[in-house]
Amino acid sequence: MKYHSTTSKNKYMKTVGLDKAGNDLDEVISSPVAEWKRPWWVRTVEKPTMEIDWDATERFDARKIQQVSFYKYVGEEENLRLRKLGAERSKQWIEENRPNYTLRDRAVDLAGRRGSVRTRFINEWENRPVGQASGGWGGQLLSPELLGVPRWEGSPEENSRMIRAVARNFGASQVGFVELDEHGRKLVYSYDARDGAKLDFEDVDKAYEEEGRRVIPNKAQWAIVFSVQMSEELYKRMVGHAPTPLSSSTTGLAYARGRNVLDRLQTFLYLIGYQGLMGTWENGLAMAPALGIMAGLGEYSRLNKVVSPEYGPIQRVFKMITDLPLAPTQPIDAGIMRFCRTCKKCAEACPSGTIPMDTDPFWEVKGPWHNPGHRAWFDDAPSCLAYWMKSTSSCATCLAVCPFAKKDKSFIHHFVEATIAKTSIFNGLFTKMDGLMGYDIPKDPESWWDLDLPPFGINNVGGSQLE
Ligand code: SF4
Ligand code: SF4
Repeated sequence: MKYHSTTSKNKYMKTVGLDKAGNDLDEVISSPVAEWKRPWWVRTVEKPTMEIDWDATERFDARKIQQVSFYKYVGEEENLRLRKLGAERSKQWIEENRPNYTLRDRAVDLAGRRGSVRTRFINEWENRPVGQASGGWGGQLLSPELLGVPRWEGSPEENSRMIRAVARNFGASQVGFVELDEHGRKLVYSYDARDGAKLDFEDVDKAYEEEGRRVIPNKAQWAIVFSVQMSEELYKRMVGHAPTPLSSSTTGLAYARGRNVLDRLQTFLYLIGYQGLMGTWENGLAMAPALGIMAGLGEYSRLNKVVSPEYGPIQRVFKMITDLPLAPTQPIDAGIMRFCRTCKKCAEACPSGTIPMDTDPFWEVKGPWHNPGHRAWFDDAPSCLAYWMKSTSSCATCLAVCPFAKKDKSFIHHFVEATIAKTSIFNGLFTKMDGLMGYDIPKDPESWWDLDLPPFGINNVGGSQLE
């Protein structure tokens, strides 16, 4: 049953014999104060349906909450017995590989519960002496090694499917995998951007850190690459083509959500017996766009960023290096890079002239901020950041005007995308159509405040990769 559907409502009311009351219900569907749209059968009322005696009600001492004072309510002895029982049972069921209570099931739960959202090279628990490791159920130690249970073992295909499921559960949109072979390793940074630590590969079992250096084990041969979708509605909240704090805000929020995924994914890997390595900041450790392209999340674009068939450029790409064997995903051809040759809308709209107008990509880099070795539309990146500072907000005008920046699932959009993937002869026409249909017109920032926003401000957060 669809919310707010008059047809569904009328049909249902008739069926249950309440059609005469329909008009009354219509009047109470939404609160005029909060403009909070609810299903049509929800009424607002003067008092909650639960009875309250305000005279008998006092402010509550939160120390008496049962989770806090459980030991007082059941007795210290019973509290310890139950905790021990829970921990032993969890361990036993993991050892037995009991369906639905396996190591990986438990790891999803515990990684999701994790409180902190930080980026760090290795899981903080890795470095703790055994006696200090904590955070598990009933105060027990974590990691298969510490629990004395075998680590998770699966085929690369099973592992890929498992990681895709957990990463999406933690908030990722698309998830792909790259093997860090001789070529793949060249996409891992040589030095950390934030603290300048040297990043080395070594024939060691575990990753480690020392003064000025971080070491990635040779056996960590795979990169998990995922995107986090951003808000199209926010992106378009510009004044002309100038960014605003609102249009800028979706970028910060995407990084926060990316950190959340990274943090939980790292913990999940640790809990099933593997290493998850990340940079000391969101974009650290390896080149996100390059890995996104190699993993097939999207194609390279004039924007110098990944443009994906599903979300266009309205996404951010993150990555984690792991020793969990994974089945690599392949790069894609959806006609996006061919489209960029003639489109140039991002370059035309860019207020700082950062993006080149050349029809064809080129080999010569524009400056030391570029890594040579690929044929690209190398941009004048420092002029972009300078514009951000002058305009007071992080700009994303180039992303907002891109014809692929539509998450619209309508027939016409799919039809255009499918045509672009097959032939480039209509590309010029499609670029013009995008402008004629007003897709690239900025939206009034003030109007955003009145939208009925979905969670994270994003419709269809990520869609499904499993459809
Ligand atoms: S983000 Fe940078 S490159 Fe893109 S439109 Fe703004 S100034 Fe130009
Ligand atoms: S605006 Fe056009 S040229 Fe720029 S990235 Fe999008 S499709 Fe490519």
